[in-house]
Formats: sequence, C-alpha cells, structure tokens
Amino acid sequence: MNGPKKMLSADEALELLLSHARTVDEIEKIHTTHALGRVLAEPLVSSVTVPPLDNSAMDGYAMACSSLNPVGETRLRVAQRIPAGSVGHALEHGTAARIFTGAPVPLGADAVVMQEDCTLEGDTVVIGKAPQPGTNIRRAGEDIAAGHQVLDAGVKMRAQEMGLAASIGLADVPVYRKLRVALFFTGDEIVMPGEPLEEGEIYNSNRYTLLGLLEGMGCRVADYGIVPDNLAATVEVLKQAWHEADLIVTSGGVSVGEEDHVKAAVESLGKLDMWKVAMKPGKPIAYGTVHDTPFIGLPGNPVSAFATFCLFVRPYILRCQGVAQVTPRSYMLPAAFHWNKSGPRREFVRARLEPQAEGGLGVAIYPNQGSGVLTSAVWGEGLAEIRENSMVEHGDMVKFTPFTELLG
Ligand code: AMP
Ligand code: MG
Repeated sequence: MNGPKKMLSADEALELLLSHARTVDEIEKIHTTHALGRVLAEPLVSSVTVPPLDNSAMDGYAMACSSLNPVGETRLRVAQRIPAGSVGHALEHGTAARIFTGAPVPLGADAVVMQEDCTLEGDTVVIGKAPQPGTNIRRAGEDIAAGHQVLDAGVKMRAQEMGLAASIGLADVPVYRKLRVALFFTGDEIVMPGEPLEEGEIYNSNRYTLLGLLEGMGCRVADYGIVPDNLAATVEVLKQAWHEADLIVTSGGVSVGEEDHVKAAVESLGKLDMWKVAMKPGKPIAYGTVHDTPFIGLPGNPVSAFATFCLFVRPYILRCQGVAQVTPRSYMLPAAFHWNKSGPRREFVRARLEPQAEGGLGVAIYPNQGSGVLTSAVWGEGLAEIRENSMVEHGDMVKFTPFTELLG
C-alpha cells in the first residue's frame, strides 16, 4: 500500500482500491420475482426454445401463400379457429385458419394476414393482396434457442433480465448474497435532521446521501448514525461493525493532520492508509481494515463524499457484489463552458447536458463548484472531467459521465 506522502491520481486510487475488492463468496437461490438489483452468480442457460413454436404476430387468418391468387383477390374457407394456448391441425388445401396473436401457426400455413386487411363473408375470408411467405409469423427460437446462454454471471438484474429469466422458465436464480455495509458518522458539529440546530452545527446530510447511494446499489446497510467524537465510542462502533459487515464506510475526519479518532480507532483494531488523491472534490480518502473487514473513510464535505463514493466506492462495491462490468460509460461532448483554473488536481464538476444554439447538446456546469454545495449535485445530471493541468474552451470535447452510470 502507499505511504502517506504520495499523491495518487484518480486513476491510481481507483486501481488501488479495486485491487483490494473481494467478491462475496456466498451464493443463494432466490425467487426471480425478488431478483431486482441482485447479481447473478452463475450464467443462465436456457433449456427451452423461445418462442417454442412458430406463432402468429397478429389476430388474423393463417394461410398457405401457394393457395393465393398472385394478382387479384382470393377467397378461402375458414376451416378452423386457433386461439392462443391451443394448437390447430394441418391446414387443408384451399382453406384458411382463424388465428390469434401468440397462437401456433398450423402446419402448412406460411403467412398470416391481419384481420384489418381481410373481409369476412360468412365462413369465407376474402384476401385482397397476397402476402409474402413469412408475413406476421414469429419463428420458433427467434428469441432464444435451447441450450443458449442468455445471461452471464456478473450481470446485475434489471427488470428486463428478470423477464428474460422468467421467459426461460426460471422461478429461481442464483445470486450473490447482499453486501452488508456498516455506516457511521463523526464530527461534533453534525446533528441529525429532526433535531434543533445550535450555533456552529450543521445537519448530517452525508448520512442520507450515503444511505441512498448504498441502498440504491442493493446493499444491506447497518446505519450506526452519529458516533460521539471520542476514541472509546469510535472503537466500540468499529468492534460491532467489523463482524456484522463486509465493508465499513464513514465520512469526515480523514483530512490529513486533523485530530482524528477514526484514524486512531481503526488503527487500534487494524490498519489504515490515508490516500491523498489529486482530485476535486475529494482528496482525502482512507482505506484500511478493521480485523479483516475493509474500511473506507470518505471526505466529510457533502459533494466530496458523494463524488468519491460514485467514482471509487461504487466500482469497489460492484466488484464485491460480483458485478463483471464496474466501469461507468462516459461520453465525449462539447463543453458549453469555459475553464481557466488549470491545476494539478483533476476536477469532477457537476454538469448537465443543455441544447446549444448551434445545435446538439453541450456540457453546462453549475456555477458554484464548491465541495460543500450539494445543490450542484441535484442540478447536475452527471460529472464532467477536467484533466489535470488543462483548460477548457467553449466547444472543446470533455468527458461527461451521467449519474445514471454512477449510481445504482
Ligand atoms: P472533515 O472531512 O471532517 O474535515 O469535514 C469536512 C467538512 O465536511 C466540514 O465542513 C464538515 O462539517 C463537513 N461534514 C463532515 N461530516 C458531515 C456530514 N456527515 N454531513 C454533512 N457535512 C459533513
Ligand atoms: Mg470533521
């Protein structure tokens, strides 16, 4: 691990943190109905063909194109009726089958004409124009072939993955067990919402931000709230947290040089490294272990805590959860701002996409980028990156990462 002096780049800090991430090793079978946000521990392989049979995409009439008049209209006797859920019989020559969406196409039929394009005269259907073979027929296996791997291990289940698992008949899916994260806060100035605010105090907003971030990621959170700012109380919480949790997260009190009980408390039960990361907002991040439970100390400033969580803790947690893809997707887009405060720390500015007079979208930034200005994170739709020692002119391409890629 790095010594206290070295300044890490944001990329190095992420790499270092990820190198410590261990995937939870317990797998459980859960009902597919409860799989939202859970991570598949094994690939899902289909034992069935989806759809199982050629079937109609429309309510209409199934027929053999060879029995149709290629130029004028054709009259066919409707010899059978096939609603969804039942199977018809082979089409007799010169007849049509009344068929409904999802019903299997009878043997001998190779097209379905939608009912709006036909007229019915007694038990005869009149087709104006002959369809091409294959019209309105959904082929057996066009979605999934039996034996096909439909989802890889390491996929975080969204609504569509739940549906896909169900479409191959899986009532249960194998997932990693939920990551348990312990959370607590220190600082004599912080007060819980609901309490009156005395002079010099501020509300503990980080508790809510971090709770939201962790719950949004599907973690099971043990929230210890505010811990009195003394060594004994901090050690007491850590002693409880380390064996109940897979990860301990705190915010505040990790600035280098500060009189700091978190640091001393962690060190009394394990070890702690203070990382100085060349980034804004952010900078101090602590990583260590309490016995063998990982500990991450985030900066106290509300935007710093939020941004460092999104950029570092999120990928770390994803890896612990067993997610294969931990890197957010970013886009290069033209800046709709000007930046001349070039410095050695990479800036992650709160930004959003706004339509530009010249057309297209541009990256606009919140005017106050202070690390305590949480409004910027609410105004923003993502983070734009300003590289170390560089300036940005209007129209220069900047890297923009939407919050949709940084949360959850
Ligand atoms: P620290 O990292 O402890 O030096 O804190 C940096 C800044 O973040 C200070 O202004 C703190 O008051 C503020 N801060 C620390 N913890 C919290 C918290 N839980 N909620 C809101 N602000 C906090
Ligand atoms: Mg503090």
